[in-house]
Amino acid sequence: MTDYHLLIDGQLVAGDQTMPVVNPATEEVLAQCPRASEAQLNAAVAAAKAAFPSWSRRPIAERRQMLLAWADGLEREADSLARLLTQEQGKPLSESTAEIAYTVYFIRHLAPLDLPVKVIEDNDTRLVEQYRRPLGVVGAIIPWNFPILLMAFKAPLALLAGNTMVIKPAPTTPLTTLRVGEIMAKVFPAGVVNIITDQNDLGPRMTAHRDIAKISFTGSSETGKKVMASAAETIKRITLELGGNDAAIVLPGADPDTVAPGIFGSAFMNAGQVCLAVKRVYVHDTLYDAVVERLARLADEAVVDDGLKQGTTVGPIQNRAQFDKVRAILDQARRDGRVVAGGTAEDRPGYFIRPTIVADIDDDAELVAQEQFGPVLPVLRFSDPEDALARANGTPWGLGGSVWGGDRELARDIALRMDAGQVWINKHLDFGPNIPFGGSKQSGIGVEFAEEGLAEFTQLHVVNEAR
Ligand code: NAD
Repeated sequence: MTDYHLLIDGQLVAGDQTMPVVNPATEEVLAQCPRASEAQLNAAVAAAKAAFPSWSRRPIAERRQMLLAWADGLEREADSLARLLTQEQGKPLSESTAEIAYTVYFIRHLAPLDLPVKVIEDNDTRLVEQYRRPLGVVGAIIPWNFPILLMAFKAPLALLAGNTMVIKPAPTTPLTTLRVGEIMAKVFPAGVVNIITDQNDLGPRMTAHRDIAKISFTGSSETGKKVMASAAETIKRITLELGGNDAAIVLPGADPDTVAPGIFGSAFMNAGQVCLAVKRVYVHDTLYDAVVERLARLADEAVVDDGLKQGTTVGPIQNRAQFDKVRAILDQARRDGRVVAGGTAEDRPGYFIRPTIVADIDDDAELVAQEQFGPVLPVLRFSDPEDALARANGTPWGLGGSVWGGDRELARDIALRMDAGQVWINKHLDFGPNIPFGGSKQSGIGVEFAEEGLAEFTQLHVVNEAR
């Protein structure tokens, strides 16, 4: 018997099967979770398809009101959602609390967006108008690092535009999403939002499904390539938010005492499992030792423990597979570079790795060349800012990047030439619902949030009338 339910056609239902969800801080089974069958996925898609005509015909103001009611419902349940999120995802309770609060904030700030008709020409010969119509059923596929916030990057705008949805969380973090589904079930008409779970088997069924018009996917670049290939068969619309290998460039003249905490916070939030985390640091020769020393001190000060314990600043890695991957990268980094802080997995139950700083390492080391997606940060040296820029740009990814210190003109010049969707100056990882967000190169296709993000959940529709 399970306390969690799928949401299909407005009903909270059992899965055809169940699966265990593990608490990464204890390695104990936290709960049995429903696991949807392919038939249940098909039922969810059919329900979304049936709900689409009336949902899309409703005035946008009504859809907006329901989004705001959803945000209110989330806010009322914020404390219990945050606790559950920490138990299944691992992040410190303060970060889970912030994730729920930010989700509410995102919904409230995306809901007021509109889809006005644009008049392109209105004269004696013709009236040309541009409309934006919803697409139909949108499939949202979510990873395990920010299960709730990343859903809020997709659902508000997909629903506001008049689409209906099938949402699928990652297999290791489905529980909080299912609780959010209970809140949504009270707000939205039957079939408008459906939530199913899987063991990595239903994602490919969604991307190939004939009745899903668009896939909004967040996850790794490797899976993103499979999504793109599978979507080709039906020319599905896709938005892909994929991996990153963000570089931070610390210019001569920067203040190590300000730069190090800024970079540390952006690199080790959620134990480094953040698409937009700083994943490589390039520091000018003149500051290298000072920045390494301060980063190492911050790493030594981190409190690594169960996220539910007060004072924890870094929780466990989210799941066993990622834990093993990060440990392998760490073993290799010990051979490739000089570990100045951390460097070990903790000898206790749970997937804990101490924040690790690796100095004197080359660009072709695995820790630098691949996305580590864990609490291990390489620090590299440069003497010419042009060289740092070339190395920062020399990867297949282009999600984010940052430039720190130095004179403003040089910092802006470098920032403008960094090949990434978002580049920060003297900060990293700052984003919001009014700022379009997307990656270059293998970090993705398309945009989320803001008017640009809303447009991605629509089909351009031009009406051209003779006069
Ligand atoms: P993942 O690609 O393994 O899984 C993501 C989701 O895709 C899960 O729900 C999974 O079940 C599903 N999936 C698995 N195989 C699939 C397939 N063949 N077809 C369709 N769906 C499939 O990613 P992950 O390990 O859960 O997440 C970590 C990755 O996500 C990192 O690379 C990180 O950088 C990236 N990420 C990107 C962003 C962004 O906005 N760019 C945000 C967060 C995470």
